[in-house]
Amino acid sequence: MTDQLAATATTLSTNGQTPVLEVKNLRVHYATPLGDVIAVNGVSFNLKKGETLGLVGESGCGKTTTAMGILRLVQPPGRIVGGQVLLNGVDVVALKDAELRDLRWRQAALIPQGAMNSLNPVMKIYDQIADGITTHEGRQPRRVLRERILGLLNMVGLPGRTADLFPHELSGGMKQRVCIAMAIALNPPLIVADEPTSALDVVVQRVVAQTLLDVKAKLGVSMILIGHDMGLQAQLVDRIAVMYAGNIVEIAPVKNIFEEPMHPYTQLLIASIPSIKEKKPLRVTEGLTHDLRNPPPGCIFQFRCPKVMEDCLHYVPPLRELKPEHFVACHLYE
Ligand code: SF4
Repeated sequence: MTDQLAATATTLSTNGQTPVLEVKNLRVHYATPLGDVIAVNGVSFNLKKGETLGLVGESGCGKTTTAMGILRLVQPPGRIVGGQVLLNGVDVVALKDAELRDLRWRQAALIPQGAMNSLNPVMKIYDQIADGITTHEGRQPRRVLRERILGLLNMVGLPGRTADLFPHELSGGMKQRVCIAMAIALNPPLIVADEPTSALDVVVQRVVAQTLLDVKAKLGVSMILIGHDMGLQAQLVDRIAVMYAGNIVEIAPVKNIFEEPMHPYTQLLIASIPSIKEKKPLRVTEGLTHDLRNPPPGCIFQFRCPKVMEDCLHYVPPLRELKPEHFVACHLYE
């Protein structure tokens, strides 16, 4: 997408409100002996205050790498090769390491994928949360700190005694809620939740999803929710960005995505959701993604698209606004 189109997309998608987050033409590559894998290929979007944006797409489409790029957590051999990430006007990509350390937790926090493995197994929950708070805010009276941590645990629906337990004494859902408590400890304006319910059973998924909704309602944070569970996305997010092979191919309010998906890939994603009301054959997206080191000329979805045309093989479809706040990258609508 050209810078001009990116600017158009991002400006219009927040309905004129000042965005908390502006991602502009973000590009992330992973170096391999056979050439760079293009994991994120010029992604642009905005997030306004209190909004939740869902990032969806199949495994390997670049959702998590986009999130890691936003928080500058891409690890070698990955690297950000271009673009800007403006968090309340500050370009995260250009920050020095010390500035970045200060920004994390205070301005942007991550709820990681697989909470089971992200907590320190030899530290009690209290100490893990206290560690993050005191690192950023300095030492505090123990009573004040304890009250604050109990308040955080209470906000995510955990009893106060959780503070004095080790991670192995908690269930998966409790660990995930501890991660949410840690993410909101410094009241950051942005939270990135990377598949926060993927390792949980459906009942616990519901509890964690409700916790995220409660946190959003109480604190008014902006959230990016990564996942491929479209049902969960429908309950939690305001807008959805659909990613394919490192590109956003459609971004629209959640209602539009479910009721009038326009990009053929989004249509296939929606058709693959099972329904308990009507028995219908599930559609699958046939074929495999192209080699991410050598994207084809033209549309990146051409090898798997049931509606591919001659133009699709030669020209990259730009992300265009086809309805209010509904952007699609597809030649079908030209
Ligand atoms: Fe399919 Fe062509 Fe649209 Fe790409 S541009 S999604 S190949 S119809």
